[in-house]
Parts: sequence; C-alpha cells; structure tokens
Amino acid sequence: MQTVVIVGGGTAGWLTAGVIAARHKARIAAGQFEVVLVESPNVPIIGVGEGTWPTLRTTLRKMGVSETDLFRECDAAFKQGARFVGWTTGAADDAYYHPLMLPQGFAQLNLAPHWLAEGGATSFCDAVCPQGQVCDAGLAPKTIATAEYEAVANYAYHLDAGKFAPFLQRHCTGTLGVRHVPADVRSVEQTESGDIAAVVTEQAGRVAGDLFVDCTGFSALLIGEALAVPFVPCDDVLFCDTALAVQMPYDDPDAPIASHTISTAQSAGWIWDIGLPTRRGVGHVFSSRHITDEAAERELRQYLGAGAADLPVRKIRIRSGHRARFWKNNCVAVGLAAGFLEPLEASAIVLVELSAKLIAEQMPATRGVMDIVARRFNDVTLYRWGRIIDFLKLHYVLTKRRDTAFWRDNVDPATIPARLNDLLKLWAHQSPWFYDEFDRLEEVFPAASYQYVLYGMGFRTAVNPLDIAGETSLAHRLRRENDTATGTMATKLPRHRDLIERIKAYGLQPV
Ligand SMILES: Cc1cc2nc3c(=O)[nH]c(=O)nc-3n(C[C@H](O)[C@H](O)[C@H](O)COP(=O)(O)OP(=O)(O)OC[C@H]3O[C@@H](n4cnc5c(N)ncnc54)[C@H](O)[C@@H]3O)c2cc1C
Repeated sequence: MQTVVIVGGGTAGWLTAGVIAARHKARIAAGQFEVVLVESPNVPIIGVGEGTWPTLRTTLRKMGVSETDLFRECDAAFKQGARFVGWTTGAADDAYYHPLMLPQGFAQLNLAPHWLAEGGATSFCDAVCPQGQVCDAGLAPKTIATAEYEAVANYAYHLDAGKFAPFLQRHCTGTLGVRHVPADVRSVEQTESGDIAAVVTEQAGRVAGDLFVDCTGFSALLIGEALAVPFVPCDDVLFCDTALAVQMPYDDPDAPIASHTISTAQSAGWIWDIGLPTRRGVGHVFSSRHITDEAAERELRQYLGAGAADLPVRKIRIRSGHRARFWKNNCVAVGLAAGFLEPLEASAIVLVELSAKLIAEQMPATRGVMDIVARRFNDVTLYRWGRIIDFLKLHYVLTKRRDTAFWRDNVDPATIPARLNDLLKLWAHQSPWFYDEFDRLEEVFPAASYQYVLYGMGFRTAVNPLDIAGETSLAHRLRRENDTATGTMATKLPRHRDLIERIKAYGLQPV
C-alpha cells in the first residue's frame, strides 16, 4: 500500500488526511507512502457542523495542530455539553444538561442508584458533576495557565465549519506532507474485480491509488455511485429530514458566549443554538412530514427574536441513514458519504475521527489483507451507527409531550429499535452501567451519557436500598468531592469569553 487517495476536502476529507498522514509521517518522509487529497474547486463543502466531541482534542493533538491557532483561525469556542430545553414536558422549567464530564468517581462506583434512593431532590447532573453549574455561570472549562488540550472540566469545541476545513488543509499540506489536487472527479476507473484503479479528473487527469477514501459528502461519488453500495434509511426511527440554518450576530460584541449547545424542542423538531465568539450558529431541524418549511421558518425566527427578521436562512435537505457497508473493495466512505443522522448529539465529526483512526492504524499492508481489515471496519462502524441511532431515539422516546403529532408519533412502539426497547426494560430495574457498553473499544456513548439523558428526562430506575447499603459511605464521599469540585470551579474558572480573548492575545502553553 503506497498511495491513499482521499476524494473530498470538507471536514471529513481533511481530518482523514491529517490522521492518516500523522500516523504514517515517517514513511511519507522516506518517500514510501503518499496521501493525496482530490477536491473539487467548484463544489462547496457543506459548511455546517459546528459542534464536536472531546475526542477532537486528541485527534488534533496527534496531528500536531496548535490549539491556540484553532481558536485564532476557526472562531472556536469551548463546548462543555448540551442543554436540552423543552424535551420532556415542554413546560417553562423543562431543561436538563448532558455534560461532557463523567459523574464523580465513575470508575469506582455508580452514583445513580444512590441519587435515585435519595429521591432526586437535586438534578442528577448537579448531584454528580460540576459541569451544569459551570455552564450556567458562563464559565470556561480551563484557565489560561492550563496547557493546550489539557482540561479542568472536560471539553470539546464549537467552531466555524467554513473555517475549519481550510485550517486543516493548511496544516495537512504545510506540515504533514499531504498532496492537494484541486480537481473535479468526472469518472471512476475500475478493474475487473471492482477495485478502483483511479479517479479521472477534469483538471488534473488520472489520479491512481491503492486505497480510496470517499469523502465527497452527500453525493457519495465512489461508495454510492461507482460501487453501488445501498443506502439504508432510518427515517422510520428518526423523522427529521430538513434543516434551516442561520447565522445570528450578537447585539453586543462582549455578549456572553454559551459554552454548551442549547437544543430547544419545537412542535415538529428542535433548534440548535451554538455560540461562537463572533456570532451564534442556529438551526431548526424538523420533520417535513409534520410541519411545512414556512411554519418551521416562522418557529426559527420566533426563537431568534428581534433582529432576525431579515437574516438569510439556508435550507438543507437531510436523509437519515447510512450505507449498508462502508468499506467495499479498496474504497472506504467517511463523513456524509457514509451517512448522516440528525445532529442532536453532534455525532458526525466524531465518527469521522474514529473511522480515520481505524483506517490509519489498521492500514492494510497489502491488497491481500485489505478485505480482512474491511470486514473489521464494517462490523465496528455498523455497530456504531446503530448505537447512535438508539441514543438519538432515546431523547424522543422519553418525552411526555403529546401536544403535536411529531411527539406522539415518536413514542409509537413501532418506531423504537428493539435493542433500545430491551435496554429501557432493563433500566427500569438497574441503572445503565459498564455492562451496557458491550465491551467495545471506543464506545460512542458511555453508560454515563445514558444516565444523564434518562434521569434528566425524568426516567426512574427502581432501587432497593438494601442493594446499595454497603456503598453508602463511598457514595457520600464522592458526593462531597463533587460539591467541593463545584465550589472550586465556580471560583477559579474564568468567564468563557474572557478566556477565549486571552488565548487569542497570549496563546496557551503549547504541549
Ligand atoms: C444541518 C447540519 C448540521 C450539522 N451539525 C453537526 C454538528 O453539530 N456536529 C457534527 O459533528 N456534525 C454535524 N453535521 C455533519 C457535518 O457537517 C459533516 O459530517 C462534516 O461537515 C463532514 O462533511 P463532509 O466532509 O463529509 O462533506 P462536505 O463538507 O459536503 O464535503 C464534500 C467534499 O467533496 C467534494 N466533492 C464533491 N464532489 C466532488 C467531485 N466530483 N470531485 C471532487 N471533489 C468533490 C467537495 O468539493 C467537498 O470538498 C451537520 C450536518 C448538517 C447537514
């Protein structure tokens, strides 16, 4: 294997290129390996996708990216989780956090049964983790003295997707030796076995390779068009199929920046609200079977309030689902070419990272062993898509809202995946824990995420106090540690916007 050709230069293409090139840097320097990225100069990138996961810190660090530069060049801010508003009852006080920190002492003890046995006077999130209160107070997850990529409270980023891909491109071509070919792919040349021999471009002729990565976005030029791998829709489970996106300026350049995504339930979908230093990125994701585009746009403008009446709104049709398999012959799909699910938990870029890491680390030495790696890749990737579908659906099945057909249809048992149904039955009697993670490496959503959503939305697991009696003193100690950590963070952490400005001015200590 000498040449990897990535087609597509959005977030998926450049992240994949960077992860592979960083992993094989010595071979690239020795002239034994090459990463080529072919990107159309005419087809724009999708340019949305502003919420990420903490995994991105490790990914960027391994690629040798400076975190300070990320803040300076991508209009980045910190993300400490998501606040879900109006999902359970739709009442004025209906909100909960899914933070990025694990519950206190998570590796030692499951605090959920203890919280349940106490009757849940404090919200689950506040009882086990400081991050909800850190977000409420508008604080950053670290200080200017915390080194790049290190955290006081676990964090990811919100960033300008339109700036992120070109930022990665500069790093990949300038530092990691990726060859950039700006050209439109017009056709795909295949051998008799179905392998891709080359992509044929309009501006740069034939680009040959050993492995091809399809990062062409929704068009899925290689995996869908050339290799005809079917698309498996899941719109029978997740109904949203349209997004309206808008960029909302701040009234005041010093306005607070939320360090969490705000996700507010609507009559037939939900609105994301992401704070960047220079603007907010806001969008309405909805089911066109349940609301018209015009009514959805009205709900969006109403949410934004004064000052939003004339802002241009961009409409994006989305198709929930994924490829039946992701790696076929010598072609593997990453990013939107592999599939898409509504961005309720910002789970697309993390899948790109996980896929790129697997390709980089398991790079087949020869074509002869590629099918073995492909089988492994397909197995784990299919599993991950399934788990994400389950987790997204969890937000809908726990709702008590019955005010519109959208919410009523979402709790129809016929729309609930069997595995999720089984887990909900089990969780009525035992709280989610490591056994629910099926022993996978790099599980997308840990048991903690299920706990935050379940108990945030009012689900209750029956607890027999006798079962946890032996753990009470450890549980009390962990709760006290959490209270102390909450108090310390409240006094030590800076205001979110202030930290970003200081990072831009002085930089973080590099690693
Ligand atoms: C409404 C919405 C909200 C989202 N929010 C989030 C979020 O919060 N978090 C998250 O993780 N993800 C989110 N996503 C998903 C995220 O935007 C994508 O996963 C991510 O941007 C990767 O896109 P991509 O690189 O696969 O595709 P694109 O950005 O579409 O890039 C496709 C590339 O292929 C190239 N190309 C196409 N045709 C050709 C051709 N013939 N020849 C050569 N090149 C070609 C294009 O030029 C482009 O460079 C969201 C998506 C949508 C639609």
